[in-house]
Amino acid sequence: MIVSCDIIKDLLPLYLDDVCSSDSKTAVTEHIAACEKCNAEFRAMQKEIQFSMTGQNMTEAEAVMNLSKRWKKGMTKSLLKGIFIAILSIAALFLVLYLFMDVRLITG
Ligand SMILES: [Zn+2]
Repeated sequence: MIVSCDIIKDLLPLYLDDVCSSDSKTAVTEHIAACEKCNAEFRAMQKEIQFSMTGQNMTEAEAVMNLSKRWKKGMTKSLLKGIFIAILSIAALFLVLYLFMDVRLITG
């Protein structure tokens, strides 16, 4: 089956996305094995796809890192809040005890 370079060019994106029929796939595979021009085109497209995919992964990794950073920040904030509340309640407890003892001293 002889397929023109133009048809292969049209099929290449489908071939790379693996959404073309097995006949088209075979035609493209056979053509790019024989035609250097289309092979170069195919490699360029493949590289582009890989590059865009790694770019996507990078941004995803960055997003996850940012999220964990934010999460850690939130953790520290709530931890500090917890410590503050704990100190405050201990202080309040001591204050109550102090006042209670003071009252007892006065009345006793
Ligand atoms: Zn060709």
